[in-house]
Amino acid sequence: MKIAIAGATGQLGQLVIDSLLERGADPAQLIAIGRSEEKLAPFAGRGLETRVADYNVPQSVATALEAVDKLLLISGSEVGQRTVQHTNVINAAKNAKVSLVAYTSIANAVTGETKLAAEHIATEQLLADSGVSYVLLRNGWYTENYTDQLMGYLNSGVILGAAGDGKVSAAPRADYAQAAAAVLLSGDDQSGKIYELGGDKPFTLTQLAGAVSAAAGQEVRYQDVEAQKLVEIYTESGVPAMFAEILVDTDVRIRTGALEVSSGDLAQLIGRAPTSLGKTIKEALSK
Ligand code: NAP
Repeated sequence: MKIAIAGATGQLGQLVIDSLLERGADPAQLIAIGRSEEKLAPFAGRGLETRVADYNVPQSVATALEAVDKLLLISGSEVGQRTVQHTNVINAAKNAKVSLVAYTSIANAVTGETKLAAEHIATEQLLADSGVSYVLLRNGWYTENYTDQLMGYLNSGVILGAAGDGKVSAAPRADYAQAAAAVLLSGDDQSGKIYELGGDKPFTLTQLAGAVSAAAGQEVRYQDVEAQKLVEIYTESGVPAMFAEILVDTDVRIRTGALEVSSGDLAQLIGRAPTSLGKTIKEALSK
């Protein structure tokens, strides 16, 4: 049984491979796929097969998926190009007769109505139309989307957002990675399953500010900003306009529950409660 991870060189992909190995996968059973030979090299050092493929180059993907049984397609990072890129991967998976494609989508992909979800919805549709067996790992927000900004929060004393009192069911990447590994190694038929994944204690951005304040011993407050004003603040600080629009749109949709998850799927797959916000903040502060 050969399991390939496309996007292995990314932050989530590396954690998925760690989780697969921790769960007893034989390194010789795993194929790390990425577009950079250099970034793939450490996996070869750990006994994995490595294959280079660029989602933009269909032939490279076709070659990378030869004799693969299960594929984890980690959604690409080039927003705006992903539907074409994922089409290339799904076509190659179909031609290679891959028995199961697991795709990392976004929580509440269809109902959340975020701009960010558009390419995920398109990819879910491509999978449905392709005839391949597939499972959807609809990942919620990474807690790191916030903890990566801790120093900025502490320096300014403010967390800016447009999410009002909306709640986010965030969990760290490592938890989503363990869920992906559990699905890939499961002996149960995963075909057709949809997992809505997220932390089990949704929090508002005011509660995020409270948790940061408590962990750091320093007052940080949440300040809600009108959406267009927040886009301007982001673009003035160097965030590309398209990305700023998407970030703020996601915040606005958080108000109506776009990133709130109550399925319990993440805890069920990883066999424990998802890592708490407080713990992830403490770990980030100690780095
Ligand atoms: P990441 O570190 O940026 O990893 C993305 C992976 O996709 C990398 O391995 C990257 O290769 C690969 N990739 C991108 N374009 C490619 C192409 N044209 N051909 C082949 N490989 C390509 O992102 P992450 O943090 O692991 O997150 C995984 C995905 O989740 C992201 O790509 C994005 O779709 C989504 N995401 C989710 C959240 C959330 O909060 N849930 C937040 C951000 C992103 P390189 O290593 O060569 O760049």
